[in-house]
Amino acid sequence: MTTAAPRIAIVGVAGRMGRTLVNAVCQDDGATLAAGIVEPGSSLVGADLGELAGVGRLGISAVDSLASVVDDIDVLIDFTTPAVTLANLAFCAEHGKGIVIGTTGLSDAELEKLDGYAQRVPMVFAPNMSVGVNLTLKLLETAARALGDEGYDIEVIEAHHRHKVDAPSGTALRMGEVVAAALDRNLKEHGVFERVGQCGPRQASEIGFATVRAGDIVGEHTVMFATEGERIEITHKASSRMTFARGAVRAARWVSGQGVGRYGMNDVLGLDEQ
Ligand code: NAD
Repeated sequence: MTTAAPRIAIVGVAGRMGRTLVNAVCQDDGATLAAGIVEPGSSLVGADLGELAGVGRLGISAVDSLASVVDDIDVLIDFTTPAVTLANLAFCAEHGKGIVIGTTGLSDAELEKLDGYAQRVPMVFAPNMSVGVNLTLKLLETAARALGDEGYDIEVIEAHHRHKVDAPSGTALRMGEVVAAALDRNLKEHGVFERVGQCGPRQASEIGFATVRAGDIVGEHTVMFATEGERIEITHKASSRMTFARGAVRAARWVSGQGVGRYGMNDVLGLDEQ
């Protein structure tokens, strides 16, 4: 593992985030683009990564196996699917590579498997790599602690583009977890993810979730603390995927100097030290 300009492999390089990540790595002097991995058998094998991402020819061709580039890479950045990410963790454990995981929608069982790799792989795992969202999580913790159990109803509302396959978003769930932890509540017990028909009045300890899927919305999250007479809303709006990609590249630079363990963006940004 190296600390200077880690050589990065982008897994899922043909995806929405993958293409943006090519752009972000190219703009970052502290990281080197070394490989891009597409789905096995994809017609994009051999395509130039720069042309794929619309940033001009880079002279690096897409491949469909990590094994073929194992000696050329230090850190993987993975924005794919839970099953692919878990397979890539096994690869990292076997070959001593670090990984930045942006994939969302992991089940509890998949998260347990991911945690199992924390003994063998340096990994940063965050459902949202944006610096602004991670700061927002800190603000939410402060707000929840300050408002406490003083009769504020908490609702999390999120909106994303029509192609997103998991709901609520990983970021919305993380926001719910942060607020729940600050209030000594368990999100599994107090989270309400569906209201339809005669669902009765709201319970005071509920943390409600609402999901919007429409058009090309990159990602919007609002946490509402509402009581009689006032409402506080803390909102983050992403206007471009570059915010996630820049955060992921920053995480890749950071994790290349770390020992094994599961880290979050708080660690990368030093937010817990403030
Ligand atoms: P996408 O569908 O556009 O891209 C996923 C890509 O992975 C596809 O191109 C697919 O072909 C590829 N893929 C599938 N199997 C593969 C394999 N075995 N090897 C290599 N590539 C493979 O999706 P997206 O919008 O780019 O999002 C990807 C993931 O990232 C989702 O889980 C999404 O929720 C998450 N996401 C996270 C953040 C964050 O900040 N953490 C931000 C945006 C999106």
